[in-house]
Amino acid sequence: MVGKKLDSENIGRSNRKLILQLLRKNPATTRRDLAVASGLNPSTVTKIIKDFLSMGLCEEVRAEETGRIGRKAIVLRLNRKAFMSVVIDIGVEETIIGKGFFDGSVSVVSRFRTPRDFDQFMDLLTKKTSLISRNIPKSRFLGYSLSVPGIVDVENSRIVYVPHLGWKDLVLRERLSRRYPVFLDNEANLSLIAEKWNNPDVVSVRDIVFVYVSEGIGCGVMFDGQIYRGRDYSAGEFGHMTVQIDGKKCYCGNFGCWETIASTEAIVNLATELGLELKGTSNNEKYLNCLRSTDASYEPLLREIERSLGVGIVNIVNSLDPEVVVLGGVASILPEVSLRNLLDFVNSRVLYATGQNVKVIRSMLHEKGMASSKMIGAALHIIDRKTVDLV
Ligand SMILES: [Zn+2]
Repeated sequence: MVGKKLDSENIGRSNRKLILQLLRKNPATTRRDLAVASGLNPSTVTKIIKDFLSMGLCEEVRAEETGRIGRKAIVLRLNRKAFMSVVIDIGVEETIIGKGFFDGSVSVVSRFRTPRDFDQFMDLLTKKTSLISRNIPKSRFLGYSLSVPGIVDVENSRIVYVPHLGWKDLVLRERLSRRYPVFLDNEANLSLIAEKWNNPDVVSVRDIVFVYVSEGIGCGVMFDGQIYRGRDYSAGEFGHMTVQIDGKKCYCGNFGCWETIASTEAIVNLATELGLELKGTSNNEKYLNCLRSTDASYEPLLREIERSLGVGIVNIVNSLDPEVVVLGGVASILPEVSLRNLLDFVNSRVLYATGQNVKVIRSMLHEKGMASSKMIGAALHIIDRKTVDLV
């Protein structure tokens, strides 16, 4: 009997999870749509929605004509303020803090220059985040979700290694909050989660590599719809694959890593060597201004950006054979001509088996601001991790 009771509880919970996922995916839906999409009995859906309405997870917004003549259906919408989180994007240069909502949207609240000293960083962070968390009702606060520009032990919320900041083996959880959950993930993984959720071009793609270009280069790898992290969480660190055996020294201590030729810092240094001046206060800003410029004197630099990104992507395609490679971070605004040049370069060098038909696309999330993909991913990550408790 106990076994049967547990079974029905599990079925009930998985039904509720399914309906919640559908509500999250569809900004405006109806009980009927949910029943069709889930394959559940309409009376089961009605019962679940009744509970969700009383929990404040969704709301009825307006009556809308449905396809059936004379019938009206109430439209259901996810309540974006049902659950909220504090999302933190730790950047090598700048840290951005915002409020994450239940629909995966984010509003940026404050930002500060990232101190290299971890204690100093934590002091600043706890001060700034407490100002935000105290304005969120306790019953609706999910906790903290952080994006890290390095390797992260996701299970234990531990920073394993951030080469650019020199951070190693740091436990954040206790220091940020003893009371609420603290989740961490790598910025490229979070960007990939955000892209998969928001971009209709990859929503049904199962094997994706997301290349996050910034001060360094991080990659998120998805196999069969799941993020692949590796034994020690360092999978996807293609930024540190050797592309020049006697190349420049990298922050990781090795020589000739991909990011020593293709990161924003590498490109800005190359611009200086070429006698080009780039406007901006940070390497990322200078790189973006180069991509946006119509000045012909930047053409040689653009060709180098295409080649240096291309060489890494050739290696990724030859190693993993993904269905799609997404260019994110600053590379998400790569001009159309540069994207075509990059594709030509990649297709001229990859193995014959790909049919010289590699798919490289730009992240669609750049329109929402530079930090958006990581922060949206962080907002979604904490919801995914907490969904079991929510329903
Ligand atoms: Zn390296």
